Amino acid sequence: MPQNLLDFDLVGLTAWLGERGEKPFRARQAYHWIHQAGVADFAQMTDIAKGLRGKLQNEAIVQAPAVNYAHVSADGTRKWLFDVGVGNGIETVFIPEDDRGTLCVSSQVGCALECTFCSTGRQGFNRNLTVAEIIGQLWVAQHSLKREPNRTTGEIADRPVSNVVMMGMGEPLANFENVVTALGIMLDDHAYGLSRRRVTVSTSGLVPAMDRLAGRCPVALAVSLHAPNDALRDQIVPINRKYPLAELMAACRRYLAHAPRDFITFEYVMLAGVNDAPEHARQLIELVRDVPCKFNLIPFNPFPDSGYEKPRAEAMRVFREILQDAGHVVTTRKTRGDDIDAACGQLAGRVADKSGRVMKRIQKEAA
Ligand code: SAH
Ligand code: SF4
Repeated sequence: MPQNLLDFDLVGLTAWLGERGEKPFRARQAYHWIHQAGVADFAQMTDIAKGLRGKLQNEAIVQAPAVNYAHVSADGTRKWLFDVGVGNGIETVFIPEDDRGTLCVSSQVGCALECTFCSTGRQGFNRNLTVAEIIGQLWVAQHSLKREPNRTTGEIADRPVSNVVMMGMGEPLANFENVVTALGIMLDDHAYGLSRRRVTVSTSGLVPAMDRLAGRCPVALAVSLHAPNDALRDQIVPINRKYPLAELMAACRRYLAHAPRDFITFEYVMLAGVNDAPEHARQLIELVRDVPCKFNLIPFNPFPDSGYEKPRAEAMRVFREILQDAGHVVTTRKTRGDDIDAACGQLAGRVADKSGRVMKRIQKEAA
């Protein structure tokens, strides 16, 4: 099997080439070609010695997951569906805005954490994505967007992807090593050179992994809160039974000592009649009293048989105002790319469940 060079950060590529008698500067050259120029064909890497090019052709490949489907919506939002083998698909979304371009990246095929309102969680878990599959999403997006002029200005951006959010399919901190390696490549000036402040990991609250991330690769952090008390959060974000809110808040405070930003973003999916009452907003204010934070309110994105409904606009407005009156910065996620069903964090993909959970649920429901 040839080695996929997208699986390596610069340290890994240097070591792999070192084992083949090549000097570290060769690794840097190849790394630039791959990540900065977007070149997969070794024959095109013209400043690399012919002998090494031949060796690479024999022993290595640069292979992102295959694109099954790519689509642009009316507002410029793009979505790719990648084939990650045996009936599995993951989604990646690019959201262009005036001052930035944000790529929403997936980390796993499915998710084992079973949040009740999440279509990924409902589909079960298949496997972790490899480093090549995670960084491959950015590689495909960056280099395909680079070839296209901006829709409004007509300019060709040098680096169209300025921000990455790990908010696609999966729980990034449950695929820790591969995600950390991929984050390192995103931040590396020899590759994508993204700012730590512009790379965000979103987690449902895996407390020990939050501490490890702080030590290994402190990027911006978003925490999926969704409920202001343990009783409700136990229901809708089941990992709360293992890491309840008091522990989660303490972990957020510890993370802030390392974070590139001086706040945590709390995501809060608004579920009509479940967590969207004024009382919930007031409890939330108490809960985050000691954690510098911003709120991102996300209207629930419905999917078939979810059992939940979108919040009323009025409920969202009241909820937002209670938080704002307490001095909090609150953003409400705009719905983008609606016509291609590409709102970030609401990506469905396709999961061939390996955990057996889907079968168990069907059996339970039938009983
Ligand atoms: N597993 C991580 C990151 C992926 S989900 C996490 O849970 O944080 C990214 C965001 O989208 C999370 O806040 C998640 O709770 C939210 N989300 C999931 N399903 C949703 C839905 N149906 N409607 C709106 N937001 C949803
Ligand atoms: Fe997994 Fe995040 Fe969905 Fe929860 S919300 S099931 S952690 S992807």
